[in-house]
Amino acid sequence: MRVHLTATAAAAVRRGHPWVYRDGIAGGGNAAQRGERRRGERARGEPARGDAAATGDVVELSAEGATFLGRGLWDAESAIAVRVFQRTQAPQLDERALAERLERAFALRDGWFAGRDTTAYRLCNGEGDRVPSLVIDRYDRAAVVRLDGGMLAPWLDRLLPHLARALGARGVRSIGLRARGPSAGADAEGKKLAHLHGPPLPDRLFVRESGVAMEVDLARGQKTGAFLDQRDNRARVRALAAGRRRVLNLFSYAGGFSVAAALGGAGRVTSVDSASAAHASAQRTFRENGVDPAAHEFVTADAFDFLEKAHARGDRYDLIICDPPSFAPNERVKPRALGAYRRLHTAVARVLDRGGVLCAASCSSHITAEDFLATLDDATLERDDLRVRAVHGQPEDHPTLPAWWEGRYLKFVVLE
Ligand code: SAH
Repeated sequence: MRVHLTATAAAAVRRGHPWVYRDGIAGGGNAAQRGERRRGERARGEPARGDAAATGDVVELSAEGATFLGRGLWDAESAIAVRVFQRTQAPQLDERALAERLERAFALRDGWFAGRDTTAYRLCNGEGDRVPSLVIDRYDRAAVVRLDGGMLAPWLDRLLPHLARALGARGVRSIGLRARGPSAGADAEGKKLAHLHGPPLPDRLFVRESGVAMEVDLARGQKTGAFLDQRDNRARVRALAAGRRRVLNLFSYAGGFSVAAALGGAGRVTSVDSASAAHASAQRTFRENGVDPAAHEFVTADAFDFLEKAHARGDRYDLIICDPPSFAPNERVKPRALGAYRRLHTAVARVLDRGGVLCAASCSSHITAEDFLATLDDATLERDDLRVRAVHGQPEDHPTLPAWWEGRYLKFVVLE
């Protein structure tokens, strides 16, 4: 099927942006272009022959004057109508082409992670690895697949033998499929992981990052189990922690930054999270690394409440890590999110010692680095002794494309 794009959408595709929103289809899309299928038409995933597309169908994109723009996969349900896979005529967009791109993505990781004693990393970052919608994370001998949008779901059966072969050659034995979103697809026991291939996946396992053990909850944890995107920043916190007396890790989740700080030599690390199950996981991770959790503090509380009370008590910290969940899931709530970051940072700065280090993170793509830095300015922090030592982002196993700004979501600002 052919899909004609508006001038704006066509320009974005030419730049290499991998998404076409439904309103980027010229004329708003007739019934066929909007992907509405008539009753009794082809099964899902069958190649588009006629005039209507089903989710997973290959579509050809064209601009004004029927110029060929590229090929992508159709999604009849989500806001993103087409994810663009190629801007050339050849080769065909089929499972062989996708398997080749995946092999390229995996081979890059072979090089990046050789000899690093790191057993958990992103094997394929979807759009950023030129396989839109497909995210694959490795957790030692298990791989977890996540599909963003529905277009690759009808392809999964055909891709699986390729995946099993390429990943098997690298020591991955089991492959699972993770449902997207906080509660999407959870079974009666709250598990969000479905089995695809190999021996059953464990609910929980330990992985290593530069030799540091980390418990990962594959069945119920956030993202595909862990925040792999903070790996390099965890290593930075480990280095920053040397000689610190009191470290505060806000929104600590499974304690990745906490254990990094403890191993880095911090005297006492306080982890704050509203979920007590997160602390139980963090404590297992501490023990696995030979660190006694009893020497540290795990507080189940709302971070804002905790900060208010800590300030009132006169508690001060010389290293603070603040990595909240995304406050801005979409563009519309951006002003409110910036306000929330500001309130949080004001409260954080009140318990930061003079001479201390503040690591502030944001994982929202709608908040640019400059937007985020504005929530850390002197007026917000009510002090004038800090400088921006560094602004970091996501690691190399989370690559992006120049035009795909949405993929560069992570900001990790170090103020000292
Ligand atoms: N910094 C973590 C990831 C944070 S995920 C890491 O790098 O691994 C967000 C965490 O914030 C979740 O564990 C969630 O339970 C917690 N959380 C959400 N709202 C909170 C609040 N208001 N106060 C404290 N914790 C909160």
